[in-house]
Formats: sequence, structure tokens, C-alpha cells
Amino acid sequence: MRHYKTAIIGGGPGGYVTGLRLKRYNIETVVFEKERLGGVCLNWGCIPTKALVKVAELYNEIKESESYGLAIHDFHIDYSRVFERKNGIVEKLVSGIEQLYEKQQIPVIKKEVVSVEKRNDLYILTTEDQEQFSAEYIILATGSKPKELRFMPFDYQKILSSTDILKIDSLPKSLAVIGGGVIGCEFASIFNSFGVDVTIIEFLPQLVPAEDDEISKRLAVSLKKSGIKVLTKTAVEGFESNPNGLILKLSNGKELEVEKALVSVGREAVTGLEFKGCELKMDRGAIVIDDEMKTNLENVWAIGDNTAKLMLAHTASKQGLMVADQLNVLINNEQDHSFALDYTNIPRCTFTHPEIGSVGLTETQAIDIYGEVGIGKFPFSASGKAMAIGDTFGFVKTIADKKTGKLVGMHIIGPNATEMIAQGAILIGRDSTVKDVERIVFAHPTLGESVMESIEDIEGLSVHKL
Ligand SMILES: Cc1cc2nc3c(=O)[nH]c(=O)nc-3n(C[C@H](O)[C@H](O)[C@H](O)COP(=O)(O)OP(=O)(O)OC[C@H]3O[C@@H](n4cnc5c(N)ncnc54)[C@H](O)[C@@H]3O)c2cc1C
Repeated sequence: MRHYKTAIIGGGPGGYVTGLRLKRYNIETVVFEKERLGGVCLNWGCIPTKALVKVAELYNEIKESESYGLAIHDFHIDYSRVFERKNGIVEKLVSGIEQLYEKQQIPVIKKEVVSVEKRNDLYILTTEDQEQFSAEYIILATGSKPKELRFMPFDYQKILSSTDILKIDSLPKSLAVIGGGVIGCEFASIFNSFGVDVTIIEFLPQLVPAEDDEISKRLAVSLKKSGIKVLTKTAVEGFESNPNGLILKLSNGKELEVEKALVSVGREAVTGLEFKGCELKMDRGAIVIDDEMKTNLENVWAIGDNTAKLMLAHTASKQGLMVADQLNVLINNEQDHSFALDYTNIPRCTFTHPEIGSVGLTETQAIDIYGEVGIGKFPFSASGKAMAIGDTFGFVKTIADKKTGKLVGMHIIGPNATEMIAQGAILIGRDSTVKDVERIVFAHPTLGESVMESIEDIEGLSVHKL
């Protein structure tokens, strides 16, 4: 039986990043990955979708080219090439990670771990083919999978998960997106840009319901303006399949005929391992962890989507890096610099058109916690840079605790929102106040100036706002 100091189960952005960092700390590690390194993020999530988002953006800009003084008349989308480009990017990135592992001689065992057994101070991992490995420390990084609708299981042809839709190499004529969260809205935005007739069906009153109210409303306005039909407070209650596609039965009594449906009603943690001689504590399908990502089992940590904290790639990676630091303290006797991860201050990005970037508390949450809050807002329509790049939709909204001036939330909808939110993450993460920001100079002309003006607006000092 091969023995390793540390075993990581799952090679997504949680697991593979942790493995690389452990190597930097000279801690012997093995990664078990049943598919390919990179997990959902590189293979079926962040990267392939953003490859499509880029083409959608470019296509939208070409459609608007007249307004820039460009005469581009003959253009069309060749989706099979868009599809190939996406696959090429994924392949390059994933094989890049595989090479990193090979070069650094970190073993990757391409098998599914089916059980974890506690034997004295060791854990015995058994893979699908009954091979066994032992390790002293275990990191569970098994990720998540798309939720299915009980009455409408994925058929991989017409009823699709987010993974299935990334496998189709031609565009459907029409698409129902069931579930208007981040993933649903991103796909709706992409396929609508490519000329697909898209309808979003969302059970709740708002799209991207975790976002600040104003942002959710603005997104709905913009998606509708771009031609997407948005049905909120509506559920899909049944369906019929026919040779042309699907007829969805809606809770409003109507029917919707579409060629394909994307079911994006959330994701559930993957935790299918059998535990022997010990019991892993779970809560509502997710692994329970403490502030240090420790599970209830000694020397077993869990990171990423399987903890259902904030299902984002950078959450998984950060949790993993923090576990690597703990192992560096435990194994190499390095100094302990540990801290608790503040999930509220992890930036959240939605790559729709327009983009959304947010960090910290929404206005409602901030009022709940702080009582009185200061709100500052700056519209991109007043930004010189936004005008120059021809994208003035949206705004930056910043929220501060009225008493102390501490910044507690930032919400951006509009151009480059997903890049700009890093500014909010740094300011809020460093406990900056409105006064602290006065010491910072923002370059001109940049969209970042809108961040500055929204913070100045908390005290009514934004000079370019009407
Ligand atoms: C369409 C889509 C778009 C997304 N876009 C973004 C985005 O733009 N930004 C962002 O931050 N997040 C995005 N996400 C979310 C992001 O992909 C996940 O949060 C992230 O991949 C979670 O990382 P993870 O390491 O926890 O798990 P995963 O990426 O799910 O990786 C887990 C890995 O473990 C392996 N595994 C599971 N069980 C076993 C086992 N028993 N034995 C061996 N291997 C096993 C799996 O094969 C998988 O490779 C998106 C997700 C989707 C679906």
C-alpha cells in the first residue's frame, strides 16, 4: 500500500491549487482526481463560460459597430468554431496544470476514491478498483454537481445541465433557462447575444436573488432590453417532450415551447464517499467545517463547493491555501499566521452583459446589522471612460456604516464590473473608511474613478454626479 503524508481527494480549483502550494512547502502530497485536473472551474465552469462570454461581447460590439463609426456589414456567427475555440482554451489550461504537476513530480491518481477508513492514526483510501493508499492528513475537495428537477431529469439532449450545454456544438433556436441565478443568467446572456430566443423562468421575484435589490432589478431591465424574456415568480411544473423540443407547463397556467431547456436551479455538494470507522459530520448535504476548514474528523479538512459556503472557484482555492498553511505549521513547525476567512468579503462576479461585481453586504443586510447606513452611487453615464468605450449602462453603489464611515458593501453593474470589484474587496477587506479613500488617487480616465466617486457620494462630495 502506497503511503503519503497528505492526500487530496478532488483536483478542482480547491484541490489542485492546494497540492501545488503543499509542494512549495515540501509536504508530500497526492491528488486523486477521477476526471481531469481543474475540476468544474477549468473544464465545465468558469473558463469555458468566459470563453463564450468574450465572443458574445465581441459579437455585441460588432453589432453596434456603426455607432463607433465603423462599417462592418458582413459578419455572422460560426458557432462550431466558437465551440472549438472554447475547447481549445480549456485544453490548453488543463494540460498546463497537468504539466505543472508532472514537472513538480506531484503524483496524480486518476481514479475515484470510494471510501475513507480510519485505522489508528492513518486514513486508508480505497479507489474504485479496490486499490488502497494510506495518508496521515486528508483534504476533501470533491466539489459540487448540478441539481436536477425531480420531475424533469437531465436527458443530455433537450433537458440540459450547465455541463451538457457546454457540450452542444450548434445553437438551438430557442432556450428556456430554468433558474435565474448567476449561472442561468450568464448562459441566458451568452445565448441571447448569439441570436437564440431565450426565456428565463425564475421562481423568486428577482433574478440573481443573492445580489443587492437595485442590482438585481437593473440586470432584469437590461436583459429584457436585450431581448431576453424574463418570467419571475414563475415555476416550471411539468413538461412534454416532442420531436421539436419541449413544451414547458408553467405555474402561471401558460405553456412555453422551446427547443432546449437549461436547468440551472443550483448545485449540490458532492460528498458520496463512504466513511468507515468514523462518521463525517454533514449539514443539509454539505460537509460541516469550522473557521479553519477542519471537519469533525481528526486531520481531515474540507474545502470548496462541498462545504457549500460560497460556491466559487476563488473560495475553494483560498480555503485550500489556508489549509496548506496549517499543514505547514503542523508538519514543518512554521509560524502560525492563521486567520478566519470572512466569506462576506469574498468578491462575487456575474459575467452577464452587463457584468455584476459585488462584495460585502447588500443594502438590506447592512441596515440589519448597522441600522443607519450611508449610500453612495455613481452612474457610468457620467464617466468619461465609459463614454469613450461606448458602455455607459449601470452604476457603482457603495455602502458604509453611518457611524464610523467604514465601507461594508460595494455593488457594481456595468462595464468591467468583475475586474473593478477587486478595488472594493481590497478596501472593504482592509476595513477602510470613507476618509481613508480620500488619501487614494485614482487614475484618469478609468472606470475605477466611478468607484472613487461612489465613495465620495456617501458624503455628497462626488463632483461629477448630477
Ligand atoms: C457554468 C459554471 C460557471 C461558473 N463560473 C464561475 C466563475 O466565473 N467564477 C467562479 O469563481 N466560479 C464559477 N463557477 C463555480 C466554480 O466552478 C466552482 O465553485 C469551483 O469549481 C469549485 O471548486 P472545487 O475545487 O470545490 O470543486 P470542483 O471544481 O467541482 O472539483 C472537484 C473535483 O473533484 C473530483 N472528484 C469528486 N469526487 C471525487 C472522488 N471521490 N475521487 C476522485 N475525484 C473526485 C471531481 O471530478 C472534480 O474534478 C462556475 C460553475 C459553473 C457550473
